[in-house]
Order: sequence, then C-alpha cells, then structure tokens
Amino acid sequence: MRERDDSGAVDIDGSRGEGGGQILRTSLALAALTGRPVRFRRIRAGRPRPGLARQHLACVQAAAAICDGDARGAEVGAQTVDFTPGALRGGDWTFRIGTAGSCGLVLQTVLPALLAAPGPSRVTIVGGTHNGMAPPFDFLAEAFVPVLRRMGAAVTLTLTRHGFEPAGGGELVCTIEPGPLRAIELVDASPVRRLTARALVAGGVPRDVAARELATARRELPGLAEDACAIEEVAADGGGNALVLAAARDDVTEVVTGFGRRGVRAEQVAARAAAELRAYLDGGAPVGEHLADQLMLPMALAQGRSRYRTATLSRHATTNRDTIRLFLDVPIEARVDAAGATIAIG
Ligand code: ATP
Repeated sequence: MRERDDSGAVDIDGSRGEGGGQILRTSLALAALTGRPVRFRRIRAGRPRPGLARQHLACVQAAAAICDGDARGAEVGAQTVDFTPGALRGGDWTFRIGTAGSCGLVLQTVLPALLAAPGPSRVTIVGGTHNGMAPPFDFLAEAFVPVLRRMGAAVTLTLTRHGFEPAGGGELVCTIEPGPLRAIELVDASPVRRLTARALVAGGVPRDVAARELATARRELPGLAEDACAIEEVAADGGGNALVLAAARDDVTEVVTGFGRRGVRAEQVAARAAAELRAYLDGGAPVGEHLADQLMLPMALAQGRSRYRTATLSRHATTNRDTIRLFLDVPIEARVDAAGATIAIG
C-alpha cells in the first residue's frame, strides 16, 4: 500500500493482508476522523465474492453521512471507491443495512469517529444484531464497550430488537458523548469471577434447543454453575438461536457466541462455543482474539501508551495494525512469544 497518491488521497489496496472488510471499515473510520480522502482499490479482493457487499456499502454510506462525505463509485459489488470526507459532526443517525448484515460492523465504522465529533450522537442501526463472523450485540455490550468506557468513552449501547441471519430486522442504539480516550493496560489476566451462559431462541426454535445447549455447555465448562445459565425467548423476524458464553474478569469480559443452524445439532453448537471459551481460558491472556483486533483503533486514538496481552494475534489484527499505520503516526508494536503476544500502542 502506498501512503498517498498524487491527489493527496490515502491509497488503500484492499487485497493486502487479510484482504477482507476490516481494511475498509478501519480506513473509513480514520478518513472520517482525520479528514483525509481515501482511494479504495481491490476492495475485499481476498474474499470469494470481492467488492462491497450490502453490509460494507452500509458502512461506506454511514461513514459518508457522519462526515458529510462523498463516496464516488460506492455500490454493491464495487471494488473501487473514492471516499472524500467533509466535516465530521454529531447527530441523530439511523442506518438501515437493508439485509441481515451486521449492525456491529457498521457501529465499528462510525463509533471511533463520532467519539471525536464536535457534538453528541445517537446512532440507530437496523440489520443483523447476532451474526456469525462479526461482533454480536452481546460481545459489543459486554466485552468491547466496557473497555471503551474504562478508556473514558461515554458510550451506551442498547438492543431494541434481535436480528438473526437470514431475516435481519434487528436494531441497536448507541449513544456517544464525544471526549478524549485515555490509555489502559490489559496485560495481566485477573481471575475469572464468573462464567455465564445464555441461550437465545426466537421464532419457531423450540425451547428444548436452548436447554440442550445449556446442558452441553455445563458439561464442557466445569466452572459454569446452573444458576448462571438462562434461556431467553426473544422476538425476531424469522427466528434464530444463539448461545452466548461469557467469562468475566474484574477488568475485561470475553464473550463467545455459537449460532444454531438447521442441520447442526444443538449439542454441537454448544460444544464448539465451549471449546472456544476454554481455549481463551487456557490461553491465560486477558484479551480474546476478536477483542484484540477491535481494541487497536481506539487505543491508537487514545492519549498515552496502551498495552494488552492476547493469546491469539490474528491476521485480522496485523492487517488492522498495518491499516491504522497508514493514517496515524502511532507506534504499534507486537511482541510475539510462545504463549501469545503483547501489543503496545502509543
Ligand atoms: P469479509 O470477511 O467478508 O470481508 P467482514 O466485513 O465480515 O467481511 P472481516 O474483515 O472478517 O469482515 O472482520 C470481521 C470483524 O468481526 C472483525 O473485527 C472480527 O474481530 C469481528 N468478529 C468476527 N467474529 C467475531 C465474534 N465471534 N465475536 C466478536 N467479534 C467477531
């Protein structure tokens, strides 16, 4: 990736590194925030169906809205977009993805910039709130936002309606009071205070599916107490099922989500999710794989030097680091060892 082309735009080659939607979202956030124009090329070139999917287009449109920007060429399937930001501003925003695409990923795009806007925002996003391959609402509410709040961000997050794939129709609301972020340390793993499991069922999915998921989770996670397990019957277009497992430490919570699918047994959904949580617990690092890539941008924007430890430094994370470095002159160092990596930012 070249830093700039002759027009002064940051040149983002979407095929680099992990080659997915994260390069786009991080760049949009930083374009809106810094006011630097971006020329996107080869968007999501590393994916089987490259270019903007509906949910990525929603991210481009949301980013353009909050900074009164222009996104030339932005349409479904586009691999080249010229994004020219204008003035960033707070406001009452509603973004409708139009599919079950992830509300969390749209939020990930606009939140960092809106924290630096000249006024407060209330952001309503309509689409999927519980998606695979994206941060589900519970992850955002219990893992991501609490860390942001510890960094000083005045952010609240509310789920108005669940939205599962493929129907979508979910809604989340985020309020953002702009202000500076401060650095934090998440290096030493404090003890896990509580393990919880919530099995969500919506639409025609029988309660029995949730009960079987919880029974499996309890078998696979010995520290999971019966009174820490709950079945939640929720309303959602088209129905859905998710098992949300959480491990709460004093300073950070990890959330792992398993999604029920037709043809996959409830026991299998739960066993996979439990294995993922066990891997996190056995890894002995406070920051889980997904939180590790999502904390990089807020920490790069914070005043001071943040540090965190993760057992899994994913390609997502290293790609995110490389993208951030194209916009911000902030050191991001990853010291990798046999048990994971310690990241220092700032
Ligand atoms: P694509 O991979 O199709 O290009 P994408 O836009 O979904 O598109 P990715 O680049 O894969 O994007 O980024 C997905 C984001 O979702 C990352 O920030 C990742 O940490 C987050 N994520 C994925 N799965 C989970 C999960 N189970 N819990 C929390 N966050 C998740």
